[in-house]
Amino acid sequence: MPKTIVLIVAAGKGVRAGGDLPKQYARLGGRMVLSTTIDAFMDHPLITKIATVISPGDMELYQEASNQFGDRLLPPITGGKTRQESVYNGLQALKAHAPDLVLIHDAARPFVDALLIGRVVHGLNTHDAVLPTIPINDTIKQVHGGQVTKTVDRSKLFAAQTPQGFKFPLILGLHEQAANDKTCRFTDDVSIAEIAGIDVHCVEGSFDNQKLTTRNDMKMAELGLGAQTSYETRVGSGFDVHRFEPGDRVILCGVKIPFDKQLQGHSDADVAMHALTDALYGTIAEGDIGSHFPPNQAQWQGAASSTFLRHAVGLVRERGGKLVNVDVTIICERPRIGPHRDAMRTELARLLDTDVSRIAIKATTTEQLGFTGRNEGIAAQAIATISLPDIGEEKDV
Ligand code: MG
Repeated sequence: MPKTIVLIVAAGKGVRAGGDLPKQYARLGGRMVLSTTIDAFMDHPLITKIATVISPGDMELYQEASNQFGDRLLPPITGGKTRQESVYNGLQALKAHAPDLVLIHDAARPFVDALLIGRVVHGLNTHDAVLPTIPINDTIKQVHGGQVTKTVDRSKLFAAQTPQGFKFPLILGLHEQAANDKTCRFTDDVSIAEIAGIDVHCVEGSFDNQKLTTRNDMKMAELGLGAQTSYETRVGSGFDVHRFEPGDRVILCGVKIPFDKQLQGHSDADVAMHALTDALYGTIAEGDIGSHFPPNQAQWQGAASSTFLRHAVGLVRERGGKLVNVDVTIICERPRIGPHRDAMRTELARLLDTDVSRIAIKATTTEQLGFTGRNEGIAAQAIATISLPDIGEEKDV
């Protein structure tokens, strides 16, 4: 996976929207705009780190906006006199982290969503520069001295949004060139790439991803907050069986348990984690382990099943989904599961990046009936519940 850093530009002084404070520190729904913006990227599986460019006088405000976030958030970078200078400073500071990709985002767009972030990052698989755009719905007039001079054909007009995505070395080089040329002043980063003749690929932006510029924007955003995202609950189930073969341990939910047999399989044969992974794929109708990691491909020989689980939960989070709970039942006569239950819950919580209270592990025997009863193998079943942004309405448009 490419190393992708988000650079949030929060060095602006604009107080039009924020009352006495720069708008990125104004409160929306009781929370600072910048906190909401950082949070939008925080859990995204395609984002490695996040850095913020701030104005030198705003350190205290920044601390307040950022203290809830962990070490995925890099220390703040001091901005310059213009937006362009601030981005330049940010890119210089990111050199030390050597990212492959950088997403440059306005702090005043707190409603960027996980799917939009994904579209920009995925666009960079095949392009050097990616811009999210939305069509313009208003009729556009050219006006001179208070008189309409022309109606502009809007079918070719789009509004540019952020995050704008780039191959890091490319945009760094372009900003360095632009910094040397004092006549160049750009209001966004794609403009720099355009001037240099770089192809900029457009992906679909989002109407919710509006920039908060005026006090009225803040008021509208505040009104819209309640209705902003509705979530629906999704449930997925998974089931798996692996047979025993001679060996000295089994791996269940990532925990190695000494035993007088082992489970046969192409990967590490973690039957419980496989059931759980399929349950997660099930929540978003994304096939199963076999379709993402075909067993006939040699690269998955002996693979840690955590790779599969992380992939599945990554797809959920790419859609803006949040894990609610998972419940795994392991079915066997032996080994005994109880003594390892807490270690399994801890390991799954770590892999799923969630609290252990959301993870249940249960065990049962089958009263010596059937293949599990005859100690021929282990079966596992799992259920996962997630909460997913409701996209139903958009489809109806
Ligand atoms: Mg399996």
